[in-house]
Amino acid sequence: MKDPACDLCIAERITTWHHEDEHCFVADCEVCGVPMVVWRSHGSAPPEDDVSHMIAVLQAVGERVLGESFRIDPVMRQIPDHFHAHARPSGWWFKRFTHHAVPGAGGASPG
Ligand SMILES: [Zn+2]
Ligand SMILES: [Zn+2]
Repeated sequence: MKDPACDLCIAERITTWHHEDEHCFVADCEVCGVPMVVWRSHGSAPPEDDVSHMIAVLQAVGERVLGESFRIDPVMRQIPDHFHAHARPSGWWFKRFTHHAVPGAGGASPG
């Protein structure tokens, strides 16, 4: 099921894509610039199997892209009705605050 008004359903390839399969994809978040796993269907509560699959995929991409120090952030701040989760590097909030959150700086890497 897809919602034509939902950004995550449209899934424009404007950032780097790290992984995709029939259940989910992992792409850099346009807002945060960190890898984000997105469920292929529109909804906030995927089956448990899909959730564990997505977390495992995000974990693998996070290790590849960010190294060892990151955490899975399952809080859906921007789009609460479509399941997604971020892999955030340690100190992400600290970096965000000290950089004064440049609007629209999609995918920019700190440093
Ligand atoms: Zn984000
Ligand atoms: Zn959606």
